Amino acid sequence: MRVSFLVLTGLFIISINSFAADRYQTILSRMNTLHNKYPTTTEIFSIGTNDDGVEIKAMRISTSPTQVDHKKIGHIVVATHHGNELAAAEFTMKFIEDLLTRYDSDEIYKGTLGETEWSMIPVLNISGYNAANRYEHGSDPNRDYPGPCISGNGGSLKSIRTLMDFMKQRIYVGSLTVHGYVGSLTYPWGVSTSNTHSEDHNAFEKITAKAAQFNGYTVGTSTDIVYACDGAYEDYAYWKFGMWSLLLELKNGNSEDIRTTSAAIAAYYDQLDASPSTHHTLNGQCTRSIKPDLHNE
Ligand SMILES: [Zn+2]
Repeated sequence: MRVSFLVLTGLFIISINSFAADRYQTILSRMNTLHNKYPTTTEIFSIGTNDDGVEIKAMRISTSPTQVDHKKIGHIVVATHHGNELAAAEFTMKFIEDLLTRYDSDEIYKGTLGETEWSMIPVLNISGYNAANRYEHGSDPNRDYPGPCISGNGGSLKSIRTLMDFMKQRIYVGSLTVHGYVGSLTYPWGVSTSNTHSEDHNAFEKITAKAAQFNGYTVGTSTDIVYACDGAYEDYAYWKFGMWSLLLELKNGNSEDIRTTSAAIAAYYDQLDASPSTHHTLNGQCTRSIKPDLHNE
């Protein structure tokens, strides 16, 4: 009895593990399907490996996708820092599909889109995504970046070091990171500071308000709408590089939410300037007056 129980338990564990490991494979096979459908505007490549030696795959979308074109306007989408927020990858795949449809079918957009180059990373935290776990190797990937209110270089996780290296390889104008579930479009600052408004606050406010007409989301700074934290990607992208950095917190991740939010994010990118911000340092004082990091978004 004992032996057969162990055998059954072992089979159960093996089947659970193989099911979980399939989750990222499913995303990769969907990326491959899209690449086969749109071979002239897509390329799949690796940005490097994580702590498990697994390649973090990205899709480049442009009219010349086989190589980086520094003359094009760069945009980046980084999803699934938190492996339990499964809709983040779903959203990103839908946004990619909608973008490719625009490249393929709309000649007017093709003229504008012809000047852009997109780097899409549907899943950054691969082991977390396979296990539906927020963390990667026990730590929160979205607290692992340097920032204006913390010391150190960040990057205790190799996935984060790999991404930070990748972000230096070209200029990105617009950045999106995808989480759930608040129903908000937020922008810097997201740290605990005496002044949550960046010097680009008015521009961010205007652009996100227009984008939110498509999905009815709440807009504002990440600190004011979500909560304050240190070491998050969305502040790093702005603070370090001046990227027009948006934190998307999906509302519930159902198909209608994803459909309307894909349109909202397209509207966000469509409104951006051709270059990053040039005044993206934190002016306010770093403070702990706001109790940080209360939630799990
Ligand atoms: Zn999250």
